[in-house]
Amino acid sequence: SGMRENLSYEQFGAAVRDLAQTIADDGYQPDVVLSIARGGVFVAGGLAYALDCKNIHLVNVEFYTGVGTTLEMPVMLAPVPNAIDFTDKKVLIADDVADTGKTLKLVRDFCLDAVAEVRSAVIYEKPQSLVKCEYVWKRTDEWINFPWSVLPPVVRRDGQVLDA
Ligand code: 5GP
Repeated sequence: SGMRENLSYEQFGAAVRDLAQTIADDGYQPDVVLSIARGGVFVAGGLAYALDCKNIHLVNVEFYTGVGTTLEMPVMLAPVPNAIDFTDKKVLIADDVADTGKTLKLVRDFCLDAVAEVRSAVIYEKPQSLVKCEYVWKRTDEWINFPWSVLPPVVRRDGQVLDA
């Protein structure tokens, strides 16, 4: 459609609280929240507090190189979490958005063998996602502007560059 879905930090705060309420009402009490960096880290932090879960893990996945442009397949970057840490644990995977769903599928498949149970929570899920997340705050088919990535990285005010 060419339109953008714009999420502010304030809307994000309410969204993550709503999402946690849905998870709690469903009776799911995760032992571990596994965040997909970088966007999923914000979601995981909010969910872990709201669900009173003190155990957060992180996995780095690289897939998007720009708006709508991706690598062929998502890849987990080192250090990959130790799946033994998840043995017999109820895991909640947290990410900002399931778009193609390939990132979530990679991380979910990584968990599936080891864990007691794995479920996924996202702020947004797009209709084409090949993973259907158990917990979704909002469905959209638009490109989403998240508050943490809508602006470019900061530059030094004195104009100095670090790598040159
Ligand atoms: P997927 O593997 O589901 O296609 O994409 C997952 C990751 O791609 C997300 O965690 C996010 O970092 C990025 N991504 C996908 N769609 C969007 C979008 O609409 N907006 C933004 N800002 N990032 C997106």
